[in-house]
Amino acid sequence: MNESRELVNREDRAILANISGEAFFSNQATLGSYTVPARAAGQAYALSSVFGRTELFDMGDDRKGEKYWSAKQIAQSVIGEHNPDADLRRFGVFLCQGERPTEDELRAAQTRQDAFFLDQIQQADLLYSRAPHRPDSITDVQRRAARALGIDRPWVVKMAAMSECPACGGTVKAGAAVCRYCGVILDEEKAAKFGIVRRATDHGVTAGFSNDAAKAATQEAPDSPDGVKSASPDGAESATTGGAAGTVRKRKNWL
Ligand SMILES: [Zn+2]
Repeated sequence: MNESRELVNREDRAILANISGEAFFSNQATLGSYTVPARAAGQAYALSSVFGRTELFDMGDDRKGEKYWSAKQIAQSVIGEHNPDADLRRFGVFLCQGERPTEDELRAAQTRQDAFFLDQIQQADLLYSRAPHRPDSITDVQRRAARALGIDRPWVVKMAAMSECPACGGTVKAGAAVCRYCGVILDEEKAAKFGIVRRATDHGVTAGFSNDAAKAATQEAPDSPDGVKSASPDGAESATTGGAAGTVRKRKNWL
């Protein structure tokens, strides 16, 4: 193979527009790798060029074949027009008819993106309603969709992994020292570290706070009904879901 031969035809150019704030990468194997740049803040879209290209391939018996792929063909492949699972048009990328996107093309791209994002949000709502303690089932695309449309949902923020309290069945943060619903100590060692002490009551042994710890917990978690704060120091990203009572509580600081 002659390595110095020019395989790219710069005379044959296709323009891709991207209205999303996200960049996309596409590996087209022998036809090269392509990055579709993100729209910059304050811009309506970002443009990128794809060029026509000759593909060389081995036909066996030392024979070489070659095939020319037009810029349009490669661009369509980059944006996944024939692959529903990789179709970047859902995210706001499209092949321009001309050198610049028209108003109609931009509007159509926005409509397509909105429809896709709405569908993603509906799917996430369904997943969340079925399994609120499984935040990992919400995809990054679904979170991006909600943010892009400015739609507020309890599953938008990355939530901590949840587990079930063995005593009351409440949904608690995995690794929590005490159950926020029934107060039972879930992790002896951690509970001791945070100054949570055992206290005997008529109903048996339940968790309680030493005075200082209780004060601190109340200050840090004013929305916590029983003053029990989950042991995680990064409370900002946590979601609280009520398991026992079947209610869903939202923090006040959702994005
Ligand atoms: Zn419990």
